[in-house]
Amino acid sequence: MLIRSLLISLLLVAPGVYAQKTLVHCGTLIDGKSNDVQSQVTLVIEGNKITSVEKGFKPASGTDKLIDLSSKTVMPGLIDMHVHLEGETNKDQALQRFTLNEADVAFRSTVNAKKTLMAGFTTVRDLGGSGVNVALRNAINQGIVVGPRIFTAGKSIATTGGHADPTNGYRKDLMGDPGPKEGVINSPEDARQAVRQRYKDGSDLIKITATGGVLSIAKDGSGPQFTLEELKAIIETAKDYGFHVAAHAHGAEGMKRAVEAGVTTIEHGTKMTEEIMDLMIKKGTYFVPTISAGKFVAEQAKVPGYYHPLVVPKALEIGPQIQATFAKAYKRGVKIAFGTDASVYPHGDNGKEFTYMVEAGMPAMEAIKSATSVPAGIMGMADKIGTIAPGMIADIVGTDENPVKNIRTMETVSFVMKEGVVYKN
Ligand SMILES: [Zn+2]
Repeated sequence: MLIRSLLISLLLVAPGVYAQKTLVHCGTLIDGKSNDVQSQVTLVIEGNKITSVEKGFKPASGTDKLIDLSSKTVMPGLIDMHVHLEGETNKDQALQRFTLNEADVAFRSTVNAKKTLMAGFTTVRDLGGSGVNVALRNAINQGIVVGPRIFTAGKSIATTGGHADPTNGYRKDLMGDPGPKEGVINSPEDARQAVRQRYKDGSDLIKITATGGVLSIAKDGSGPQFTLEELKAIIETAKDYGFHVAAHAHGAEGMKRAVEAGVTTIEHGTKMTEEIMDLMIKKGTYFVPTISAGKFVAEQAKVPGYYHPLVVPKALEIGPQIQATFAKAYKRGVKIAFGTDASVYPHGDNGKEFTYMVEAGMPAMEAIKSATSVPAGIMGMADKIGTIAPGMIADIVGTDENPVKNIRTMETVSFVMKEGVVYKN
């Protein structure tokens, strides 16, 4: 009897569940790929997919659910190509390498992930952490933790003493001699091993630190840190595993070597010369500017004691240059993908980057596409995310104003749907 009534209720409920559609009335629609701004459009969502995009406000019938965004501008879920979800800027960050256990890092990372999603970023590239970022990606994919879809580099690859050598600044007896497993290489052989280790660890892509960096406890923030042979070994091996390579680079020489060797994206790009810009255009290399990080570190460096004494002069020198470099590179025709380096500044403020990009001369629509269809293409996901069209995954965000008229509205995204599930309304 019980089984029979259960069966009946299943039969009654099941067709309703499968037939339920969500209709989203969009006052204004930006599809992430074209330059058109459409008005009064209905998106039909079934399960985690957009099944149709129709002109006008289609009425909901029967079991349909209606989401009224008729006063908002709707666009694809945003993609930040450069975040580090494991940590966040604070004055004790250097010390925390000794005081936080992996579990502490993991709990913090879930908070950062949620803030990122609530800011409208439904997909991110995590460009380096301890490896907790791999577990975070898995937990989000399994529905255990709320956060964006993550493509992670796992632990970045550096050279001894380089920007992502995890023991920089340690006391001698604690430094040890980290190797390829820890992401520190000193030969093409090491380079291949480090890439294969990332594959074994479950990374989705490779991140290298092609030059010195601002926040490492090291004197130099711009010099080259890999030989061309090492870079080529990394990129060749990465291809074997279907990985693309992202290269952190501030100085010109290390940046040029990375572009020549065939990296897919240059991160920061601070001292990019016109010669490098032209080389990037020729090779199709993308520039991920992270203007937000540059501005934040330049400001914080003025706060006494916030950064290590070795970091302060680097932050003051490098930070303020990025926006001007971006302006030049965009104007010259270098392909741009949106990225912010969240963690260097507080997570959730990712949307400010749009304002900085537009300030530097990029039209709002181009800035939006650099955070939607463009990065989806880089990650081989162009047929799934980054565009609002039938068949795409239902990652959708809404803003109170039309960003083409006021880009600052991107800083306060008011509606977030990921895979057909509403997280903010
Ligand atoms: Zn970074």
